[in-house]
Amino acid sequence: MKKFILFAIALTATMALSAETKVIAHRGFHTTEGSARNSMVALQKAQQIGIYGSECDVNLTKDGVIVVAHGGSHPDKMVKCDNRITIQKSTLEQCQSILLENGEKMPTLDEYLAQTKKDPKTKLIIEIKSHTTPQKETEIVEGTINKVKEYGLENQVEYIAFRPFVCQELKRLAPEGTPIAYLNGDYDPTYVKGMGLSGIDYKFNVLKKKPKWIKQAQKKGLTVNVWTVNNDEDIIWCIEQGVDYITTDYPTRVQELIKQYQK
Ligand code: MG
Repeated sequence: MKKFILFAIALTATMALSAETKVIAHRGFHTTEGSARNSMVALQKAQQIGIYGSECDVNLTKDGVIVVAHGGSHPDKMVKCDNRITIQKSTLEQCQSILLENGEKMPTLDEYLAQTKKDPKTKLIIEIKSHTTPQKETEIVEGTINKVKEYGLENQVEYIAFRPFVCQELKRLAPEGTPIAYLNGDYDPTYVKGMGLSGIDYKFNVLKKKPKWIKQAQKKGLTVNVWTVNNDEDIIWCIEQGVDYITTDYPTRVQELIKQYQK
């Protein structure tokens, strides 16, 4: 009997460790025709390819609207532009007056959640960006959680953040059991577990240097997500390490490699 129990435990552990790596589209599936980072189309395209989730970033405008946009500035630094604005210092109207690369206007969180609701199979991973004061950070965390509740999406939304205070506020205000992962890469899995969070979501180079953190985190029941993994060699490394999620700008390529390399 004892032997059987030990065998069952070993089998369960092996199964847990060999669970398939899942794909998250970084800022939506934006590297495809007609799409752009953090656009409505990027979310819709991500929903069409059968991946685990679509990531987006949220910021609070000067007039208190939660918008889906990456950086402090709009357009973000990768886009050539002479009249860049700072999102958190601008109104919604100002933010939407500069169009995204695919011609869309900057989406609001409301629009994003309405679209998320249309496809229950695809999770929305919301990154709450750092803001200038703790008050602003509490405001956007609270506002986001309330909106998610309003749309009945509590089981379809997960959160990530760089700033420990934002993670702490998410933990305090989101329903018990909501996935919250820490992005900044400077804390070991034991510390992140101690913060009461559900996972680490670290930059590829951090985990490449500290691959032990992957299994250490998983043994503690934390999920392991890696960003932003775009070339084949790095993607294959992540799959072979058994990470839980790969966040990428090329989600269909990662899907192909998972089929090929997952043991
Ligand atoms: Mg992000």
